[in-house]
Amino acid sequence: MPIASCYPTPMAKPHKKGPTTTVDVFCSGCKTQLFTYRKGGKGALIKCFKERISKDFTQSPGTCPACDQVFARDTLVRGTPAFKIIGDKVFSK
Ligand SMILES: [Zn+2]
Repeated sequence: MPIASCYPTPMAKPHKKGPTTTVDVFCSGCKTQLFTYRKGGKGALIKCFKERISKDFTQSPGTCPACDQVFARDTLVRGTPAFKIIGDKVFSK
């Protein structure tokens, strides 16, 4: 007999609550907007969690669509896909 009917499903809930403050992130070389990012806290943008990017203007990951500058590298932060921003290749406001 199946016993699964009253098994509690430990579904992971998506984190809909995150930071709601957004910053616009630009290429520091050509001032093209790269993405809009929901950023938590203050301070410099060092890494970007991909799930927090609300608008993505890039065509290939981590590369400026206008000047082909590589501004970030793919990485994992605690198992979560993220971009690691390279030095001062971007600025945000
Ligand atoms: Zn650029």
